[in-house]
Amino acid sequence: MTIGRAEYLWIDGAEPTTQIRSKTRILDLSENPTIEEFPIWNFDGSSTNQAEGGDSDVFMQPVSVFPDPTRGPGDWLVLCETQNPDKTPHESNTRARARAAQDEAGEDVRAWIGFEQEYTLFEGNVPLGFPKDGYPEPQGPYYCGVGPRNVYGRDIAEEHMELCMIAGLNFYGINAEVMPGQWEFQIGYRGLDGDTEADPVAMSDHLWVARWLLHRVSEAYDVRVSLDCKPVKGDWNGAGLHTNFSTDAMRKKGGLDVMEKAMKNMERRHMAHVAVYGAGLEHRLTGIHETAPLEEFSHGVADRGRSIRIPQPVRVKGYGYFEDRRPGANADPYQVSEVLIETVCNVGAGRLESVA
Ligand code: ADP
Ligand code: MN
Ligand code: MN
Ligand code: MN
Repeated sequence: MTIGRAEYLWIDGAEPTTQIRSKTRILDLSENPTIEEFPIWNFDGSSTNQAEGGDSDVFMQPVSVFPDPTRGPGDWLVLCETQNPDKTPHESNTRARARAAQDEAGEDVRAWIGFEQEYTLFEGNVPLGFPKDGYPEPQGPYYCGVGPRNVYGRDIAEEHMELCMIAGLNFYGINAEVMPGQWEFQIGYRGLDGDTEADPVAMSDHLWVARWLLHRVSEAYDVRVSLDCKPVKGDWNGAGLHTNFSTDAMRKKGGLDVMEKAMKNMERRHMAHVAVYGAGLEHRLTGIHETAPLEEFSHGVADRGRSIRIPQPVRVKGYGYFEDRRPGANADPYQVSEVLIETVCNVGAGRLESVA
């Protein structure tokens, strides 16, 4: 056994957008500890909008462990579900609900997911690359740009990627975004040798850990990471959490037909989706800046102005996955996963009303 540091991570009850929090505990652990080696722990829920002061203990049940790249070998990041004293999921525990939907859909569905997390770096009250007063040159040269007047904050994006790789996350890639100071990283299905199944709950775990690492990295730069879905009003792109999704049936011959059927369900459940796709979504889903309007559902091939985009290579092949472009950058991936599984697989709240 060796002494190591365990950083326990959990998701709080902040409104309207939950945040990730953590605290550290020294533990005696084996060299490659299983999740069972990490004890249940607790925190003060009255400080996280998860309990009243008189009965403030909320419990942390470890569910997923990763090497801690911010410390060193022998230290761990321990992602937890929150629980009530009687071991039932805390009401803010959206992971438990996503897990239930995934279990109800069944293993044979083999759902895979991939998140594109956009974020904006702020220095004081302005995004990196914005002058203190006024605006930079209009959008155009920044997306995937290079050079001092085109990209801002690359060191943070690079350092973050490095840490995510050391932690063993399913990190897919990064790119500079359309607005200065805005970046994207992707987490999810990669198809690399040795990757485990990219199931929605596991990939949502990876995304929350990646978010924690991003905020952690930014501390040293005195830069704030914002997941606001419309950080600058006006003629500037918002920030999304595009979510790519597929089932086994969508990934083989006939997959496009399966997706078309899923689109019927998606249309029927459009409002249930946007309800959990992040606070302030109405400011981002305007119908311009590569979005579809909030009130209307639409889908199409290669069209970035639709709610759902089927990538051109998928259409050509006849099978693959679709991209839900509606979620905002501040959406909770567990909630996005839950509603997608429910709608596509007809489970939980997505079950078709029985026709008499
Ligand atoms: P975009 O062209 O929209 O910018 P990106 O290149 O940023 O797309 O990201 C592609 C995303 O698609 C990644 O998150 C990846 O995990 C995901 N993805 C690729 N194949 C599949 C699949 N079969 N099922 C689900 N997600 C997938
Ligand atoms: Mn992308
Ligand atoms: Mn993007
Ligand atoms: Mn996208």
